[in-house]
Amino acid sequence: MMVTAGVLAVQGDVSEHARAIERAAAAHGLETDVRTIHTSGVVPDCDVLLLPGGESTTISRLVHREGIADEIVAHAEASKPMLATCAGLILVSADSVDGRVDTLGVLDVDVKRNAFGRQRDSFETPLSVAGLDEPFPAVFIRAPAIEAVGDGVEILAEWDGRPVAVRQGPLVATAFHPELTADSRIHDLAFFDDDGVRGGHT
Ligand code: GLN
Repeated sequence: MMVTAGVLAVQGDVSEHARAIERAAAAHGLETDVRTIHTSGVVPDCDVLLLPGGESTTISRLVHREGIADEIVAHAEASKPMLATCAGLILVSADSVDGRVDTLGVLDVDVKRNAFGRQRDSFETPLSVAGLDEPFPAVFIRAPAIEAVGDGVEILAEWDGRPVAVRQGPLVATAFHPELTADSRIHDLAFFDDDGVRGGHT
């Protein structure tokens, strides 16, 4: 079976996310048709979506300008799986405490931009994640902190006393960059279960 995976390609690790979902899908005997998203009209054809990191002010501006924002919201409302990482997390949040980011409000969390790693812009740390047997090598790059979570939000991982990976139904979001290592377990956790794509969305 074929999974159609859309990767928002405004900025960020587009090919790394594509490779990660391909690896995760292959482990479930699934093939992946990766579509890069630059304009509107692509998201509605996608079974799953990946929103990479980058600069959330830029990404927010472009998804609204290109008419992609409403399509991402519709994808979330249809309960289709989505993984949002770093700036992607900021984009889907309810509030980023920064007026320059017009958030989509599909994930009931408040975030604060550039909250981790002030001393060092980036760092890697082994992270315990709910649902994974072994710690995940989490790479943080000028990462946002999740400051508040709503009732329907499950915390999957914490670092330094704050949530850094969360799930709200079919949407998984991380403050770190799971695409930057060869370990595709976060992509697996976000998109697949024993029956294939979560929620049967293929
Ligand atoms: N600092 C970026 C922002 O606030 C996010 C960084 C990232 O995606 N690696 O938009």
